Amino acid sequence: GFKCGIVGLPNVGKSTLFNALTRTAAAQAANYPFCTIEPNTGEVAVPDARLTKIAEIAGSKEIVPTRISFVDIAGLVRGASKGEGLGNQFLANIREVDAIVHVLRCFEDDDITHVEGRVDPVADAATVDTELMLADLESLERRIVQMRKRATGKDKEAMAVLPVMERALALLQEGKPVRLMVPELDEEGRRILRSLNLLTSKPVLYVCNVAEEDAASGNEHTAAVEKMAAEQGAKTVVISAAIEAEVAQLPDEEAREYLEAMGLEEPGLNRLIHAGYALLDLITFFTAGPKEARAWTVKRGAKAPQAAGEIHTDFERGFIRAQTIAYDDYVRLGGETAAREAGKARDEGKDYVVQDGDVMLFKFNV
Ligand code: GDP
Repeated sequence: GFKCGIVGLPNVGKSTLFNALTRTAAAQAANYPFCTIEPNTGEVAVPDARLTKIAEIAGSKEIVPTRISFVDIAGLVRGASKGEGLGNQFLANIREVDAIVHVLRCFEDDDITHVEGRVDPVADAATVDTELMLADLESLERRIVQMRKRATGKDKEAMAVLPVMERALALLQEGKPVRLMVPELDEEGRRILRSLNLLTSKPVLYVCNVAEEDAASGNEHTAAVEKMAAEQGAKTVVISAAIEAEVAQLPDEEAREYLEAMGLEEPGLNRLIHAGYALLDLITFFTAGPKEARAWTVKRGAKAPQAAGEIHTDFERGFIRAQTIAYDDYVRLGGETAAREAGKARDEGKDYVVQDGDVMLFKFNV
């Protein structure tokens, strides 16, 4: 599965947020298995109104949402790259995630110690980024020596990898995260960069954790974070971990009333999950029948056989074709049969690039 790692300095609200995420998931788990893979990893359902609509039309008995994982990565402190705090363990945990959700403290509370002694989320973001950049710098400097030698010796692979490494190294030496070079790279360059597995090459989303009263409007700290994020081309989600922790424990109706009183339309967690999903560059396709309507996840750009493989490896191996109906056609026409009659059920082959919202039915050899 796809994983977002929750990082941030101590006492910014990571665990509160993580617990709210997993508790909400547990509470909604009636129809699908919720699992805590490890104590600090939780799978959460991705809320999707389209799935409910499809289930209605198909008369499905069960609804099975797609899921992504969040990992609570504790232990980052100033000096982590030099082994302070949980140091190496922390860095190893970050290496395993696909994207980073960076929680920043944007609430004032004299009772909750701030490790740096003042609330300044932009400075906190820099502290965390610095540790990650130092770790990347050290790892790249170590590896690049060998790569330069091999490239001089006309080693094909090294000649392809080295320019990406050199550019990454130059950025780190300027004190900038490697993710800033991603927009310059083509598909192959991105593949090479991913293979280097650098911490600061992963996509980042900033989460501003605010006090209850600022949840709807934000505050001066969130404004500062939004400005910083925009400069990096990153997204920001403003959330109150305290509200989310509360909402996660309430029955649906009470939760709705509570959110309304706070000036919110939906739980912030939904926004967070959706932002995480987008950050991972994932899209959703659906399968629908009388038994169940189900949402599935693939990386954007995946082809039909890969989508089939999400359901079962045999489906990918024996893939013949996929009957594909665009979500809008499925809903507008009122389901599979009607879509087929209207000529809106396409037979797609192995080179078809799956589109977000496709309702698919796979034909395969066993
Ligand atoms: P972590 O170290 O980043 O995982 O932070 P925690 O989630 O353990 O939170 C640290 C402390 O801050 C706990 O006592 C939380 O109850 C408190 N806290 C978390 N979010 C908020 C918030 O939005 N407002 C206030 N006032 N306190 C919060």
